[in-house]
Amino acid sequence: MALLDGNALAGRLDDLLGWDATGSEVRCTHCGLRGLLATAAVYASAMGAVVRCRSCDAVLLTVVDAPDGRSWLGMPGLSAMELRRG
Ligand SMILES: [Zn+2]
Repeated sequence: MALLDGNALAGRLDDLLGWDATGSEVRCTHCGLRGLLATAAVYASAMGAVVRCRSCDAVLLTVVDAPDGRSWLGMPGLSAMELRRG
């Protein structure tokens, strides 16, 4: 797996969610660190990506691309994510 930063997910999240979530502030459930998703550690592979907290290494978010064309977005370590209206 290649270690990247959160910016590597910009296009992928835009495809899945319809907006680029890497500019959103997120909060780690485990240590409480707040920061832009773009600054998190991203481990990418052909199957998807695992996003980890830069402070405590907890898994914040996962993206798995299944062979059947579906994608699965998990957010096991996010206690909050900023969403912008309008
Ligand atoms: Zn953390």
